[in-house]
Amino acid sequence: MIEPGEALKIILDSASNLDAKDIPVDQSVGFVLDEDISSFDDIPPFDNSAMDGFAILFDDTRGATEDNPAVLKIIDDQPAGTISDKTVIPGTAIKVMTGAPIPGGADAVVPIEDARYDSDEVSILVETKKDRHIRRAGEDIRSGSTVLRTGKVIDPVEVGVMASVGKSNIKVIRKPKVAVIGTGDEIVPLGEPLTPGKIRDSNSYVIYNQALCCGAESHRIGIAKDTMDDVREKLLIAMQHDVIITTGGVSVGERDFVKDVLEELGAEQKFWKVAQKPGKPLVFMTLGQKLFFGLPGNPVAAVVSFEEYVRPALLKMMGRKKLFRPLVNGIAAEDFKKKPGRTHFVGVMIEKIDGVYHARLNGRQGSGILTSMAGAEGIAVLPKESGLIEKGQTIEVQLIGQPEDH
Ligand code: AMP
Ligand code: MG
Repeated sequence: MIEPGEALKIILDSASNLDAKDIPVDQSVGFVLDEDISSFDDIPPFDNSAMDGFAILFDDTRGATEDNPAVLKIIDDQPAGTISDKTVIPGTAIKVMTGAPIPGGADAVVPIEDARYDSDEVSILVETKKDRHIRRAGEDIRSGSTVLRTGKVIDPVEVGVMASVGKSNIKVIRKPKVAVIGTGDEIVPLGEPLTPGKIRDSNSYVIYNQALCCGAESHRIGIAKDTMDDVREKLLIAMQHDVIITTGGVSVGERDFVKDVLEELGAEQKFWKVAQKPGKPLVFMTLGQKLFFGLPGNPVAAVVSFEEYVRPALLKMMGRKKLFRPLVNGIAAEDFKKKPGRTHFVGVMIEKIDGVYHARLNGRQGSGILTSMAGAEGIAVLPKESGLIEKGQTIEVQLIGQPEDH
């Protein structure tokens, strides 16, 4: 039996970046960039107007007021997307729309709100300054500059930045393909009748979705019966994936075949059993670059083991640098029962009072009580050597919800 920290280290040492692939930039949110993105152009590419108004010479507006406007001749009208062949000279103005190129000669734009005009003439009612309401070429991005670097997790705005420099396809680290297999003669998938002695599958739905939430490509392979043949059949289907996750069938029961079949298929066992509660029978194996997680069947153990071990591995494979949830100190809002000997991972609800996290249990506890993890906002990590944790004591909590939820 090994410690959770050791188990995590072995897993992360075995999980390496997947290869890169080209994808359309508009599909790239959440991927990790695998190239530097530079701009070949100035963005914006030309000086343009920040307002609907009149491109003029600022000098023409000296002393202009409502009562004493500067009257200029309108020599052209230039919407966005077009270029005027006229030049602004003293005494003239060109009507421009927001985003339209600044016509030659002009050195300021006066917004229409500061003007009275008809089709021939404009009266400018205010004095303006050089460069007013002109967006200069390259003020956002300079030609030749690097806008995003390799290793960046792409967010929606960065998709826009890459689009604005004309990148239609980009190189990213591909996401792991994950196969999820439930095991157990007693397990019935959704849509099939529940006969005596059977229970409904929940694990494979939870794990499938946890993998999706990490950004992986997740697939449910189904439920394997507790026979060597069925476990083998399902694992062979799963072999095309980068990560294979099973639930159940890894304890010491006579029908716990997952490890045996994996070994038969050539996988190497890296560890089995971790000094933790829940999730002691966790097994981890590798075959080449492929990772196998044999999660315990107890629903809470499966959820917690995914969170503690599988999630960081998936994130690492997709090139992420930040693999772990934020870890904070919190106050136990009630007693947490515990005996020394194993690290406990306990789903908790969190309340932040005056900047301090208070953690309490989410109803009845037990490795089979899935509702105790439903909606959990944190996982309290109770140290191996510790006994009963009393109300008011400080405990470490991993925040598993969105930070803004806390
Ligand atoms: P095992 O690790 O196979 O001995 O399973 C441990 C416990 O988890 C047993 O009570 C199983 O019935 C339960 N269990 C196993 N797989 C699932 C599943 N897919 N969904 C819900 N409960 C499960
Ligand atoms: Mg079983």
